Amino acid sequence: MVAERNLTRLAVLGATGSIGTSTLDVAARHPERFRVEAVAAGRDWAGLLEICRHHRPRRAALADAGAAAQLREHLVEAGLGGVEVLEGEGGVAELGADPEVDAVVTAVVGAAGLASSLAACQAGKRILLANKETLVVAGTLFMETARRSGATIVPVDSEHNAVFQGLPADKGVAGVERIVLTASGGPFRDRDPDTLAEVTPDEAVAHPNWSMGQKISVDSATMMNKGLEVIEACHLFGLGPEQVDVVIHRQSLVHALVGYTDGTFLAQLGSPDMRVPISYAMGYPERIASGVELVDLAAAGRLDFQAVDERRFPCLGLAYQALRSGDGACAVLNAANEVAVAAFLEGRLRFDRMAAVVEEALAAEAAPPPMDLESARSIDGRARQAAEVAIGRFRD
Ligand code: NAD
Ligand code: MG
Repeated sequence: MVAERNLTRLAVLGATGSIGTSTLDVAARHPERFRVEAVAAGRDWAGLLEICRHHRPRRAALADAGAAAQLREHLVEAGLGGVEVLEGEGGVAELGADPEVDAVVTAVVGAAGLASSLAACQAGKRILLANKETLVVAGTLFMETARRSGATIVPVDSEHNAVFQGLPADKGVAGVERIVLTASGGPFRDRDPDTLAEVTPDEAVAHPNWSMGQKISVDSATMMNKGLEVIEACHLFGLGPEQVDVVIHRQSLVHALVGYTDGTFLAQLGSPDMRVPISYAMGYPERIASGVELVDLAAAGRLDFQAVDERRFPCLGLAYQALRSGDGACAVLNAANEVAVAAFLEGRLRFDRMAAVVEEALAAEAAPPPMDLESARSIDGRARQAAEVAIGRFRD
């Protein structure tokens, strides 16, 4: 099948989540421009069924085989038996490399998204990258794979999308001195640090400005999210750790700034709604309607910026430490953090101990840079074990 002119055939991986839902919302606003060919999720077959009803994709995949069986059965009942359903990590990755797909939105959460991101990259796709963990776990491998295959990477993460918008037209970094990523500071930016031990999962996922998935919401509360984003930015834009700064900006209206050698800062400003960066990535280099209005500046009133308090947010320093050590340490940082966040959400670990678990895993595991998916997986596995050991010790 030959693509119609100006029609982008999309695969949305992680379609039922926060980013996936926003992406499908933007796609539905431009039916003449986007066709949703393939959708994937973890185990939410009911959510994927609804998406199939609305978007009529050619293929769907669920990482969980039992959930895939449910989806097949219900698609037939809904008269949509023609949708091919794949299963397992391999099935999700296959959709990322589908020859009849032009652009792949990588919106799976966590290191679980690495295989499908890499498959899309190897297939030379245009990648709308939301899964930041891909770059944290295997940044050099991913960027080198893209260079070889000709894959184009357009960042969806709001800060990186903002930097991308503020770079020179060729998207190089000529004349760029440093970039600044903004952070809202999350729900505990004003809380007494001595009371962080009592934080509950409900409090941690209640972000003041953004509505997001659970994992990234906890990461925002510890500011590990910003640490992962610093690593993500270094790989995406070819910058050193000393060229990426973080500043607290509680209004979440300015998403990042690009600082040039002549003393100019170019800032991107928009409502905290992911449809803004998603639509930019989808339409690039054109701009398309996202469903989000321009910010009412007078109503917003002020833009505040302040330095990060490192005592309150130790995870940010750990991310810089891993970045300076190399790709292997970043993979350990990510895996230990995923385990710590899951344990916190399950009530097995105190909020203020997540950083200590990551620190212990970094000290226990000196990992080499991952060379391929397999080595990334083995580093990830060992770091998860080290993190569980640390969590066990805290319980005693
Ligand atoms: P979410 O939890 O809302 O959704 C995650 C999606 O991934 C779901 O569709 C889920 O079914 C799917 N999934 C889970 N495990 C899977 C697996 N093994 N295989 C295939 N699919 C699987 O998460 P989210 O908030 O949408 O975040 C997705 C990614 O985007 C994360 O990497 C996050 O860091 C990044 N991101 C999110 C936001 C945001 O505003 N939510 C902003 C910037 C970046
Ligand atoms: Mg972000």
